[in-house]
Amino acid sequence: MKALDFYVGWSHSDAMYSDYFPGCPMLISAVPDNIRPLRRFKIKPKKLILDSGAVFYASHPERARVKDIFSRQLEILQDGAADTEVRLVHVDEPMLNMKQLRDRYKAMEKTIFNAYEYMNLFSSAQLPQQITPVGVIQGFDLASIRYSVLELKKIGYINFGIGSLLARRPQEQIAFITYAAELVGADKLHVFGVTGLKQIQKMVELGIQSFDSTRPTMAAAFFQIFYSNPFRTYLIDQSNVNKKITRIDYTLPCDCPICLERPDDLLIPTPRDYMKLRSIHNYYHLKKTIQQFQHEKERVTNAVPNVLRS
Ligand SMILES: [Zn+2]
Repeated sequence: MKALDFYVGWSHSDAMYSDYFPGCPMLISAVPDNIRPLRRFKIKPKKLILDSGAVFYASHPERARVKDIFSRQLEILQDGAADTEVRLVHVDEPMLNMKQLRDRYKAMEKTIFNAYEYMNLFSSAQLPQQITPVGVIQGFDLASIRYSVLELKKIGYINFGIGSLLARRPQEQIAFITYAAELVGADKLHVFGVTGLKQIQKMVELGIQSFDSTRPTMAAAFFQIFYSNPFRTYLIDQSNVNKKITRIDYTLPCDCPICLERPDDLLIPTPRDYMKLRSIHNYYHLKKTIQQFQHEKERVTNAVPNVLRS
């Protein structure tokens, strides 16, 4: 059974995840701050998604040319390993804060046009076959998701990603993901920017190909540490954050690369290097939680007699 791949969202000031977890899939945005980021990794990621950094370009529209972003992605790939499986994502027009129907349609049309232009560039570049383009599905309801998928398929996309989900309620996110998976095939769908465990568990059930999240880094930056089985979050006692999360001034048993060496480092709030150690620890527990969801799914699947399987 193919497992859900968790791509950790990475930016230039974050922990070097794949140096600690060889083969760890990573998502990197082709924004100007991430200058040839792969040069810095001792162990290159085995799976990589290079997205466009659409959120950055939304506030710098003059720099959002499809051609320039594609070149930036190719520049990043120069330093990758030859066997890295790469998915490249075209720029989409975020519709996060759009209320007017007309504006939303305009954003969708713009994204589809970008996808078309991007596919032309991609085809002319004649890249090795482990590099594939991803069409970004956009929509604000089921009908617009369907429209977006049909247009992307016409252009020739086989792999897809669904975005613009962040502002939505969990149930709505799940409905959109489920519907998109029905249209393109769950094993061809990446879900951008997910944080909720409920959504992750549902994606495991659906057999979704992959998702990305910056949650291990974000939580670490807010002085939080994760543990798994069951998944839970604590606030480190030395932080000044005033939040209603259980505080912790000691560490629990953990086999992550940080805790095996110096567990107490997790509890030191600053400077940023300690934040990076916390994010490695957090990644380990989020990953373990996803694996538990996977085992649970396999247990349920195996418990169903063959004749009843569809
Ligand atoms: Zn740990």
